[in-house]
Amino acid sequence: MKNKNTYIVRYGELALKGMNKPYFERMLIDRIRKLLKKYDGIQVSREDGLLVVRTPLDLDESLVIDEISKVFGVESISPAIEVSSDIEKIANASIEYMKDIIEKKDIKTFKIEAKRSDKSFPIKSPMIASQIGAAVLKGCKVLKVDVHNPDCKLFVHVRRDRTFIYEHKISAFGGLPLGTNGKGLVLLSGGIDSPVAAFLMAKRGMYIESVHFHSYPYTSERAWEKVKDLAGILSTYCGSMKIHSINILPIQEEIIKNCPEDELVLLVRRFMMKIAERIALSTKCLMLITGENLGQVASQTAEALVVTDNAVNIPVMRPLIGMDKADIINKAREIGTYDTSILPYEDCCTVFLPKHPKTKPKLEKILESESLLDKDSLIENAIQSKETITIYPE
Ligand code: ATP
Ligand code: MG
Repeated sequence: MKNKNTYIVRYGELALKGMNKPYFERMLIDRIRKLLKKYDGIQVSREDGLLVVRTPLDLDESLVIDEISKVFGVESISPAIEVSSDIEKIANASIEYMKDIIEKKDIKTFKIEAKRSDKSFPIKSPMIASQIGAAVLKGCKVLKVDVHNPDCKLFVHVRRDRTFIYEHKISAFGGLPLGTNGKGLVLLSGGIDSPVAAFLMAKRGMYIESVHFHSYPYTSERAWEKVKDLAGILSTYCGSMKIHSINILPIQEEIIKNCPEDELVLLVRRFMMKIAERIALSTKCLMLITGENLGQVASQTAEALVVTDNAVNIPVMRPLIGMDKADIINKAREIGTYDTSILPYEDCCTVFLPKHPKTKPKLEKILESESLLDKDSLIENAIQSKETITIYPE
């Protein structure tokens, strides 16, 4: 049987976007075109409210699915075959389709689900289903019909001049097309959480740029490679991604010299936020994004988050705030960042970890300690040391 070189692409939430729907659809189509650009002969079109991707016959189905399922806004994809809307042709194609998968998928029972979008087609849906069902039974003697719990539901969607035949839906991430929600700056560590946070915001249509803080030479080249690898994985979803890298060691050293040991982490975190805010303002990022999660560590208790949040005026998004660690890990596995995140290279926050970090800090106390430092010049120098690279997908 011929390859299923037609793909029906469904978008869920976009359908609700009222007046803006054409804009969202255009962004979605552009993104699909961009990801499939590396293959010749791809066609992406909107046809009577359905998004259809057609590829050359010899292009491997799994490659196409892999790309389309990474496009935010896409809810599901069905590889399909198409025939002209003629009941005999539909019947023959359905038989061929079933023959092709009976063994591969160990199918014993089936059901036809028919839908008729073209009301001028002379046969009504229930009748289409029963005629095609009868033809398949005749053409595939090993199969039986089971309308309640079939091994395979074969969908026959009759449209004006073409009919789509398909049998399964592959779920994608949903969300909104990239670029429909401005740009955000993620504070990207090498950990599990911040890549997931970036992913979740990108999934809502936000372009992502990132800032990473290191304490070279206390943090290693390998730790930096790991961050680049994480950005590489993210970029397959979010598009090419900048990483601004900043050495925060001089600031850490100043804090260690001048401030109470148990306030180190929080003071460093406030500096990270302030530096990130400066970068965001100069790169047109509308908000900061962190992987913070309520109560996960000492610096993420409610009291600690108040202290961190107070450092900046720009909105800070914490998309993981109410998740459980197990759910964050599952998400990291699903998007493919987990195995890289758990590589054991030190982070700037762990190289000088105090033995007893404050878990219920008072903002006034922290501000008092901060006032012992020459904040402005520390921040300015850090920004001056910024290096920026761009990571491209693959
Ligand atoms: P992650 O798993 O993302 O490293 P975490 O649970 O280890 O998070 P923290 O180290 O307290 O938590 O960091 C909280 C958040 O602060 C991170 O999710 C990230 O957004 C930001 N952050 C921490 N360290 C760095 C860093 N070295 N560079 C950039 N951002 C950082
Ligand atoms: Mg971390």
